[in-house]
Amino acid sequence: MTINQKNQQFCLGIESTADDFSVGIADFNGEILANTSSAYIPETGGIHPREAARHHAQAAPAVLQEALTQAKIKPADLTAIAFAQGPGLGPCLRTGATVARALASYIDKPLVGVNHSVAHIEIGKLQTHAKDPLTLYASGGNTMVTAYASGRYRVFGETLDIALGNCLDVFAREAGLKHKKGLPLGAAVEQLAAKGKQLVPLPYVVKGMDLSLSGLLTAASTALQKGAFSLEDVCFSLQENAFSMVTEVTERALAHTEKREVLLTGGVAANKRLQAMLASIAAEHDANFTVVPQQYATDNGAMIAWTGVLAYTYGLTVPVAESFVKLRWRVDKVDVPWVKQP
Ligand code: AMP
Ligand code: MG
Repeated sequence: MTINQKNQQFCLGIESTADDFSVGIADFNGEILANTSSAYIPETGGIHPREAARHHAQAAPAVLQEALTQAKIKPADLTAIAFAQGPGLGPCLRTGATVARALASYIDKPLVGVNHSVAHIEIGKLQTHAKDPLTLYASGGNTMVTAYASGRYRVFGETLDIALGNCLDVFAREAGLKHKKGLPLGAAVEQLAAKGKQLVPLPYVVKGMDLSLSGLLTAASTALQKGAFSLEDVCFSLQENAFSMVTEVTERALAHTEKREVLLTGGVAANKRLQAMLASIAAEHDANFTVVPQQYATDNGAMIAWTGVLAYTYGLTVPVAESFVKLRWRVDKVDVPWVKQP
């Protein structure tokens, strides 16, 4: 039986908010049929937005084709095209949006603008079967604790400056660590931290329900430069402090919201030490702890495709002429009518 005979519906999702250009395809029942990416790796330093955008433009045709091949469908089989409309880096967002608009116009199908942070939460719920979780979303560009209330994902606490993944990445670069065989810098810090034994005194900055990581990053880099501590000990101490800070905020939000599930999502979700800390506070509050699987933790097109399905089902499409990208589109500005509080 061919796909059209089964009358299955599909949404293609394009993710391009930062360093990854990724395309996913989801069917309307939540089956992920394709998820494929090309990552921009800077030659020096952090992400250069225009260089990353150039990478995305060059990678787009092959990544799109690969996704369609994985899903075994043709463009004409798609019901909708979703794209990450924000938040993110302007040139990167605009490149993904241009690809999405071109494809939607070419096959004459509706466009769905998806909030990247909402997508991280939705793919986490889809993959872990969490129904109404308190979510810690920690990645290269975002660190926030959210939970659903009254029509939106509300922010209970967040970083006041840099994101957790960015903190680990910048420290790793300053320590001279390099991307090895696709190993993210945060994972390199994790491997070294596992060999650390001694806690180096570093700042611990939680302000109300928010936290600050930039002072911790500077102090960790300075401690390493002074040479009094080993790289392993500084990695260990950086992780212990940063992860304890996000865990403290998560625990207080959990006590306040009385949610029964804790979900960890975003690229830093791969970290075993962070997982262990969150598992322990979840257990203390009798909440179930879940982690999004690795391939859906980091930025990915599948999460945009699936959130596109949810939004499309509620008629949330956007005309091409109004499909501007939104660089600072906060998660708590987005209505999520598909979420039903249990
Ligand atoms: P994302 O922004 O969601 O694409 O995630 C990328 C971020 O996740 C980068 O900051 C990575 O360094 C970080 N990351 C990936 N794996 C790990 C890990 N095992 N431990 C800590 N951070 C990680
Ligand atoms: Mg990324």
